[in-house]
Amino acid sequence: MNELAARSLATLKGVGPKTAERLAGMGLHTVEDLLFHLPFRYEDRTQVAEIGRLRPEQHVVVEGEILRTDILFSRRRSLLCSIRDHSGQINLRFFHFNAQQKNSLEVGQQVRVFGEVRVGSTGLEFFHPEYVVAVDGALPQLERCLTPVYPTTDGVHQRTLRGAMEQALAVLRQFPPKDLLPADGAAAHLPSLRDALLTLHAPDPDDGIDALLGGTHPALQRLVVEEMVAHQVVMLARRAGQKALGAPALQGERLFRQLRESLPFQLTGAQQRVIEEINTDLAQPSPMLRLVQGDVGAGKTLVAAAAALNAIESGYQVALMAPTELLAEQHHASFQRWLAPLGLEVAWLSGSLGQKARREVESALSEGRAGLVVGTHALFQERVQFQRLGLTIIDEQHRFGVHQRLALRDKGRSQQQVPHQLVLTATPIPRTLAMSVYGDLDTSVIDELPPGRQPIETLVLPASRRADVIARVHAAARSGTQIYWVCTLIEESDSLQAQAAEATWQALCEALPDLTVALVHGRMKPAEKAAAMARFAGGEAQLLVATTVIEVGVDVPNATLMVMENAERLGLSQLHQLRGRVGRGAEQSYCVLLYQPPLSLTAKKRLAVMRETTDGFRIAEEDLRLRGPGEWLGTRQTGELSLRIADLMRDEELVEPARTLAARILSEQPDAAKALEKRWLKGSQDYLDV
Ligand code: ADP
Ligand code: MG
Repeated sequence: MNELAARSLATLKGVGPKTAERLAGMGLHTVEDLLFHLPFRYEDRTQVAEIGRLRPEQHVVVEGEILRTDILFSRRRSLLCSIRDHSGQINLRFFHFNAQQKNSLEVGQQVRVFGEVRVGSTGLEFFHPEYVVAVDGALPQLERCLTPVYPTTDGVHQRTLRGAMEQALAVLRQFPPKDLLPADGAAAHLPSLRDALLTLHAPDPDDGIDALLGGTHPALQRLVVEEMVAHQVVMLARRAGQKALGAPALQGERLFRQLRESLPFQLTGAQQRVIEEINTDLAQPSPMLRLVQGDVGAGKTLVAAAAALNAIESGYQVALMAPTELLAEQHHASFQRWLAPLGLEVAWLSGSLGQKARREVESALSEGRAGLVVGTHALFQERVQFQRLGLTIIDEQHRFGVHQRLALRDKGRSQQQVPHQLVLTATPIPRTLAMSVYGDLDTSVIDELPPGRQPIETLVLPASRRADVIARVHAAARSGTQIYWVCTLIEESDSLQAQAAEATWQALCEALPDLTVALVHGRMKPAEKAAAMARFAGGEAQLLVATTVIEVGVDVPNATLMVMENAERLGLSQLHQLRGRVGRGAEQSYCVLLYQPPLSLTAKKRLAVMRETTDGFRIAEEDLRLRGPGEWLGTRQTGELSLRIADLMRDEELVEPARTLAARILSEQPDAAKALEKRWLKGSQDYLDV
């Protein structure tokens, strides 16, 4: 039994029921939990600084003699205490104080002070510093270790946490945990877990605060590696669990060959390669778990069609799920166009479908009459059943979570067999990050755009140039091309977005009376939306005013100009996704980013990146740098990541070694794998639900 995990925090001195409850609220129940609760900052209280050399914002210890202690009655009543050492003089200021405190700061006494140096009304001051007054002329010994500062919660003081931690460290010394990582893998040359924890909670000044916080200190790396290994253990176990389930071996290549021959263009080399990778997977009697990454416009839909046709030809059903109704509709239209000549029908299922139509589709699916269904979230509702689901395709996976992917898969689960899974994403994720987020998937990359595509030219203009932009829209429409006008509002309220789009639509209709202007926004009925899109896609409307609902997937190659309002409010990947709606044909395309000055520094950077490049990978990297992985991936993905100590950006180069080590531990030491999972991922049980 693991002593550290067995001992509850309530057994520690100074941790009463109330505190224990508050700690539990932070996920800290046992001594082990507490030991893995790392400081987010350290203070160096091991040395005394000279008062004469202080700078604002330093956190320092000083010692001096008390010169005077007065209550001031200026704007706000305060206690001011002046102290002096050989190098200079500084004031301590307290706004909350009592008589006893005033008396204890007795003139002539030595005092040691710890606090942040601030600029106050008398020059440099300490506001509410911690301090000790000498007893019998003597100050206590200085700290010998760096002082940890822990993340905490209302009602739990640092003092309480530090007190509890000291006891936890004593338990750790007495019952050192077993090292779960082999000594010769990614953790070679790193300290044992016991030593790493002791260092992190009570580092030597020589350990260096920067190294400890910056992630380069071996003690921190020891924990990072272990957490990443635990994470990869779970990913690999989930993968192995899925692979063990088995899947139908599919080998139909005739239908797709037929489709390919009817296309007015050739597949790109990258598309061919990825289709081959997929077909190789599908031919196996174990489920494919494949992520296809490709920049916007790379032609992922056709790759999905190849997989779908393989399954259909082999006598299995296929479900394709997209995150928005609009995108699902586009896929439905593309697939219908491609599959009708082959004599195949494409079923449609979304939440907005009427009762009767819905029931019809449902029975066609459950009776096996429909081979391919395209739809939205409606697809994984309980009442939807398939007769022989052999392949699931999910577009823009980052909009879904792993569990939704698995829920759809389970529609085709029979005894020991599940459907193959194909996931498409236009969010190009750096390799190591993909390994962490989509750790159970194999990855294929479509790293080539169809030929003849010219990079979109991007202009960044202040909103005051709106009239010029409208003139440009007019000229573009007259020359026969089509234009998107995207309204953005950061307030994610559908109704506000819709209002803004309607107002813009109105204004543009008035400014451009000879154009037909269509409008789509999230508040419209699906049929209205579809009708508006159809008018635009069919060329009847030259201008489409839209909210960000058109962000993903919409495909109208004749549109070569996009105007985005308030572009400064959008993140890089969103800008890139939106911009990807143009540049889909052979014509030169343009994107005008209108912004409302003044621009923040990051907004300026984002717009500059957009102007400089159309390379999705570069944009993703910049975006990741500007935002960090948590926000970048969105809550769904990070919820599953939930790394406590490791930082995917900072610790990127540890991901691969961690994966290698995880694979080894799973095969050689299954018990250690279980223990790692238990230590690091408790509470996320469904991780392993394969
Ligand atoms: P995405 O990868 O963004 O989903 P799509 O699948 O929507 O891209 O494809 C973008 C456009 O490129 C579509 O109009 C599609 O028909 C077209 N396309 C796909 N593959 C090729 C190709 N090899 N050559 C020319 N055009 C292609
Ligand atoms: Mg797409």
